[in-house]
Amino acid sequence: MTIPDDRDIQGIDWRSKLTPEQYRVLREGGTEPAWTGPLNSNKAQGDYVCAGCGAPLFRSDDKYDSGSGWPSFTAPMGGEAVDEHHDVSHGMTRTEVKCAKCEGHLGHVFPDGPGFKGLRYCINSASLDFTADEAGADRANSDSDGGGD
Ligand SMILES: [Zn+2]
Repeated sequence: MTIPDDRDIQGIDWRSKLTPEQYRVLREGGTEPAWTGPLNSNKAQGDYVCAGCGAPLFRSDDKYDSGSGWPSFTAPMGGEAVDEHHDVSHGMTRTEVKCAKCEGHLGHVFPDGPGFKGLRYCINSASLDFTADEAGADRANSDSDGGGD
């Protein structure tokens, strides 16, 4: 269990490290327009990491097609990858999801997802980088084509 060095994170020049869109989402809590993120339709096996600090956040196995236009997950990777905060901005009560390491804004979690927890982590593509699994590390390729709604 490693505690990130806050000084490292806080010393980062986010404006030069991130694209303007990433900065707007991660550091200013913005939301990208639906269907614009390159990772929304990504179905490759691998890890979704924080675009700000590189911390692993979500796993491709937990990604599903919610039809919302944003990458959606049923659960984050492990219990400490993300922080969840009560968010009452914009006249709505939502739960904001942040990177636990750099506190970058990722998206929101809604109670309308599939799976046994019934959660939908609705995450901005701009907040994420994708690291594909290495060739050969072929995990159980059970592509259950859920079909139908
Ligand atoms: Zn981060």
